[in-house]
Amino acid sequence: MNLEEIRERAYSPVLGKSMARAYDQSIIDVRNLLEENERLQQRVTRLSNLERRNAKQRDEARARLAAVEKLHGKYPIYDAAFACADRTERHSQEAHMEVDGIIVCTDLPLYAVCAQCRDEEGFHTINWPCDTIKAVRGE
Ligand SMILES: [Zn+2]
Ligand SMILES: [Zn+2]
Repeated sequence: MNLEEIRERAYSPVLGKSMARAYDQSIIDVRNLLEENERLQQRVTRLSNLERRNAKQRDEARARLAAVEKLHGKYPIYDAAFACADRTERHSQEAHMEVDGIIVCTDLPLYAVCAQCRDEEGFHTINWPCDTIKAVRGE
């Protein structure tokens, strides 16, 4: 009910009530509206608190996911440099490096293993993405 309607109710002769009674009713209506407004404001506050909590939980979940992705990182396995056709000094300096005593070419990726997961014998031979990465990604 807007102010116009309140005024109409208070002063309208067709309602058949005394003006005082209509006015009292208007006061009650205004009070009800104020109470309703108060309830709605409380609801808005509750919802925005809930939204903040949800955002916090979402950020925490993302951070945990990122930590798992980092732990179970992609570790590329490269072919040996002697398999490389590029014999230039520049390429050798840029792409050839020693990994576990073997010179490899980073331009010749063979596959990737998980930096964290190990097989039954304790070796890093589990292909990436590993089961853990697939699980957290929902794959
Ligand atoms: Zn190379
Ligand atoms: Zn893994």
